[in-house]
Amino acid sequence: MSDFDVDLFVIGAGSGGVRAGRIAAGYGARVMVAEEFRVGGTCVIRGCVPKKLLVYASRFHDEFHDAAGFGWSVPEPSFDWSTLIANKDREIDRLEGIYRTNLERSGVTILNERAVIEGPHSVRMATSGTVIRAKVILVAVGAHPTMEPRIPGAELAITSNDVFDLKTQPRRIMVVGGGYIAVEFAGVFAGLGSAVTLLHRGDKLLRGFDDDVRDALGAAYRQRGIDLTLGATVSHLERVSDGIRATLSDGSVREVDQVLVATGRRPNTSGLGLDRVGIALDPVGAIPVDDYSQTVVPSIYAIGDVTNRANLTPIAIREGHAFADTVFGNKPTAVDHSLIPTAVFSTPEIGVIGCGEHAARALYGEIDIYKTAFRPMRATLSGSQDRVLMKLIVDRASDRVVGLHIVGHDAGEMIQLAGIAVTMGATKADFDRTVAVHPTASEELVTMRVPHVVKKPVDVV
Ligand code: NDP
Repeated sequence: MSDFDVDLFVIGAGSGGVRAGRIAAGYGARVMVAEEFRVGGTCVIRGCVPKKLLVYASRFHDEFHDAAGFGWSVPEPSFDWSTLIANKDREIDRLEGIYRTNLERSGVTILNERAVIEGPHSVRMATSGTVIRAKVILVAVGAHPTMEPRIPGAELAITSNDVFDLKTQPRRIMVVGGGYIAVEFAGVFAGLGSAVTLLHRGDKLLRGFDDDVRDALGAAYRQRGIDLTLGATVSHLERVSDGIRATLSDGSVREVDQVLVATGRRPNTSGLGLDRVGIALDPVGAIPVDDYSQTVVPSIYAIGDVTNRANLTPIAIREGHAFADTVFGNKPTAVDHSLIPTAVFSTPEIGVIGCGEHAARALYGEIDIYKTAFRPMRATLSGSQDRVLMKLIVDRASDRVVGLHIVGHDAGEMIQLAGIAVTMGATKADFDRTVAVHPTASEELVTMRVPHVVKKPVDVV
């Protein structure tokens, strides 16, 4: 008889843990998954999926407005937050059900409680006290939003965990932060008609992105009426009769109904028992792992946001799948984190793969930049002020496209497809010989001919 109750015990039923459990079970492993909250994790329950539903909702505002230029008369539209939230909740319940059913159909046992690590091969269920012996333990517990900086009155603010369950739409909201979550929710609430202040400590939004992308988003947000306040932080928050008063580091004041703090996320490693087995955390509280997601304890692995490698759902899913292939499928698989297409669901949307201009210059030296900024065809009759930015960065020595950046309608959809070519190592010549699809916005990707940075003329000897 086996010394273990199960072959694999997964802590956390988010995107990564669910994928790992299902694939391992497919290889014949006996699998248990513990989840203290809801099956589906951040992405399904209070992240990517509900966020995208809110993004869709927020974009109808532009559609109604733009329709007039195409001959439609649309009666003054009105928006009801509680209908959106109720419909969103129903959809999330449905998806959670599917996640749960898929796990169970794969033969995985789900335990609806918190699990903590007791030893290299044992976990204890926090409520029932049951101890389960597992050949392998996989930590896939994700991360949580931080409330930083800790300022007087911080308890009046909410995080992205709370925003999906607000009972009423804030008429005025201040969003703090300049990363993915802050810019996405600023766009959502602006589209839904709230007065939005977006407060960021830096001089541009989205640090780490290409400067042209950052400038384009900042300009678009200002054009959309968002109060984009840069180079400042919140000093304190206080309750006033009509909402919350925020005093900023530059001395100015904003009075709003909600303050949404989106200043980053931290791994959920606290109280997990990792110290008991000798797993030391890195400075942000993440679990260090090797290329195969193995920790310093050979029987314990970790995947997804808890390892703070690339904190994106598709990466957690890949890491979970690779872990199961490696440990239970006899196919050692390491996830390549070097080239990751990503989208920011701001409005306008952003799609990116590869390096920004500064990084590319540092990495490759000689590069050519191709870029175009234009008014898309759909904005002509509507009179919309929307612009599209497309930027290609080419390594001059190899002619490979090493960066591709899009700001504009459907940028996320475009970057998924263009990302295949870039992942395959497409050259600028490959882009050039691709026939344009006309009339589309994305045809610009294959019709940019003249580099923005022109080569210095070669000296004639
Ligand atoms: P990010 O790390 O993307 O951004 C955090 C922001 O908060 C930065 O602008 C940062 O400024 C600012 N900040 C950090 N600390 C402070 C502070 N003490 N005071 C003031 N500002 C501060 O985190 P998010 O919370 O936006 O998102 C977390 C992660 O979730 C993302 O990195 C991404 O991986 C993932 N995500 C992905 C999405 C997608 O794929 N579409 C959507 C949502 C999340 P500075 O730049 O100066 O450091």
